[in-house]
Amino acid sequence: MAAECSGIRTGAAARDVRVAGVVQGVGFRPFVFRLAQANRLTGWVLNDPDGVRIHVEGEAAALDAFLHQLTAEAPPAARIDRLESRAAELEACRKFEIRESEARAVPTARISPDLPVCPACLAELSDPADRRFGYAYINCTDCGPRYSILLGLPYDRPLTTMRDWPLCGECEREYRDPADRRFHAEPVACPLCGPGHALLLPAERIEGDGPAVGRAAELLRQGSILAIKGIGGYHLACDARCAAAVAALRQRKYRKEKPFAVMVRSVPTARELVTLSPEAAALLIDPSRPIVLAPARVSLPGVAPDCPELGVMLAYSPLHHLLFAHGAPDALVLTSGNRSSEPIAYQDDDARERLSGIADGFLVGARPIARRVDDSVARAGVAGPVVLRRGRGLAPGIVARLPLEGPVLAVGADLKNTVTLVLDGEALMSQHIGDLDHYPAFQAFEETIRDLTAMYQVSWNELAVVRDLHPEYVASRWAERASVRRVTTVQHHRAHVASVLAERAALDARVIGIAYDGTGYGDDGAIWGGELFVGSLETGLERVAHLRPAALPGGDAAARYPVQAAAGFLAQLADLPDLTMPPFDFPRRYLWARKLVESGVRTFSTTSVGRLFDTVAALLGYTREITFEGQAAIWLEHLARGAGAVESYSFPVVEGELDFRPALTTVIAHRRQGRSPAEIARGFHHGLARATTDAIRSLHERSGAEAVVLSGGVFQNEILLGDVLAESPLPVWTNSVVPPNDGGVSLGQAALLIQG
Ligand code: ZN
Ligand code: ZN
Ligand code: FE
Repeated sequence: MAAECSGIRTGAAARDVRVAGVVQGVGFRPFVFRLAQANRLTGWVLNDPDGVRIHVEGEAAALDAFLHQLTAEAPPAARIDRLESRAAELEACRKFEIRESEARAVPTARISPDLPVCPACLAELSDPADRRFGYAYINCTDCGPRYSILLGLPYDRPLTTMRDWPLCGECEREYRDPADRRFHAEPVACPLCGPGHALLLPAERIEGDGPAVGRAAELLRQGSILAIKGIGGYHLACDARCAAAVAALRQRKYRKEKPFAVMVRSVPTARELVTLSPEAAALLIDPSRPIVLAPARVSLPGVAPDCPELGVMLAYSPLHHLLFAHGAPDALVLTSGNRSSEPIAYQDDDARERLSGIADGFLVGARPIARRVDDSVARAGVAGPVVLRRGRGLAPGIVARLPLEGPVLAVGADLKNTVTLVLDGEALMSQHIGDLDHYPAFQAFEETIRDLTAMYQVSWNELAVVRDLHPEYVASRWAERASVRRVTTVQHHRAHVASVLAERAALDARVIGIAYDGTGYGDDGAIWGGELFVGSLETGLERVAHLRPAALPGGDAAARYPVQAAAGFLAQLADLPDLTMPPFDFPRRYLWARKLVESGVRTFSTTSVGRLFDTVAALLGYTREITFEGQAAIWLEHLARGAGAVESYSFPVVEGELDFRPALTTVIAHRRQGRSPAEIARGFHHGLARATTDAIRSLHERSGAEAVVLSGGVFQNEILLGDVLAESPLPVWTNSVVPPNDGGVSLGQAALLIQG
């Protein structure tokens, strides 16, 4: 041991402590240093590839206090997953010191997600006397980028995108001083030594953070659209209250109706735009600073057409705060910098090329982004907070612990793709990748897998890969081509159910698992999406009931046209009126789809609840093409919200089949009688919820299940979820950490591997 440890004191004890989790790059060692000093303890702390190692010695009472404070007062960005403490030999240290990191062949330390600017840095940012006044790359150990600047492990400046900016004397002093807030803050920088920002306009280039941000704020006030380089990629921004700017952004980005998120200056501005429950307000200030979906209070033309909710997020980077301080509109549309359905641009040249026809100017910082990370999305729902998209601030976090030997890679579903890597029993979920049928998103998928496996030095010949049962999924075909130890398949809806069980570490819990969603490949090759299972992660999930099958003309393509899906479901009803006439006014596509159903040409069998929702939406007036996934169902939910208490439509469960026919017959009859579409929509929601709880009740008796699991994209519907919660005879478990939509599928795939 070092020379500092010599000579023995009496009355002293010593302890060795190991801390694992997110404990590197979050100010943990200086925190330990200060804690040891406060308790008059001596010893040392260091980073090793598994986390942080501590040796402390001193009075027994002080050691106890130290250990207690270690977890109770840990830095805000730290996440302690394991803490082991045992008695140790006295090393007779005379002081407490921070020692050099230990390197080892294979890293297991977990990467910190990106963090929002902290209050201390924010105060300096707006203090004219501070040397970082107005400097948009200000950060410290409590805040700033992590995952998005990381080039490799261990997390150290030479392995970040800040490696090309040598520290000036003053930054170096802060970086080396254990008592300083910037001790080993890897991205530390100042206006003297660090990168800066510039505003690039067609005819001029404005250098310097102050002038560039000032002019950008002015342009935004005047209705311009700007590309702004952020933490995990480029955003496109404009004044959310300027209808002309929002319309221009939609047109240039080829984004028809999918809602835009809005960045606000402060919580009070958020409250002007949306109704924030205490839970939603807590989500808004979560360190991941997600886009929070909440009921809209105002209508911002073009921002979220036909949507009952608005997605708002708080300014999270110093640059955002500077923009608002310089007078940018206090509510900005802030949407990922891409054309519709492409991945977010994050490299400067690529962004300039792809966004040049969209943005009037570029507000660009020189610090490179190591990888793309979209904003996260969350909601404070009827069943509790739920993440709907995992991105910045969450990725690449540990979402579950699974008893799996060896590394596992689950490659997810093709829509809203994520991948999950399981290492040493810890499931790390990637950031949201996107829809893999678009080639750039597939490239991002390959990049993300390469990135995560390289970071943790996973050897491919040891890797077990799990893919969806669907042989035509892009991710499935990738898995089949990969040179790995083995490839296994998991059915889509079992994966949805398993994702909830994995999150809750409910490995042997016997449950009724219900997955309602749009599309997934079934055991029988049919298009599933209304499935009820009984079983557990350990024993597997047996399908015991499902929605009554219907024809689906045109297969998955029917998802884009509610009237096309309707043609299949309605073909089973007797005495169908002419739906091309009022009050239905179906377009001709419906007649063409009916012909497909009747001839059986290009027609598949489906149990998709998503398509049933489309059918009801079509009957109540949504007869056009949808422009984003789930649009018709969201429209229907919004419609139902406008109704008071109504009866539930008859939706019987007969021999394991949830029979939609009586409910659809009632929808048509009531519509012809002139009942309000809102009440009809509500009656349908109630009916499906009742059918679901009826099925739960009948399965409960013979299954011995202890809980009900609800997952799949349809359970993002808060009315349906609320109704089932209210009436379920068993406790209801839902997703919280990973999305109930296809973004959560990769975790469920990995979890089902524990069956062996
Ligand atoms: Zn800070
Ligand atoms: Zn400096
Ligand atoms: Fe799904």
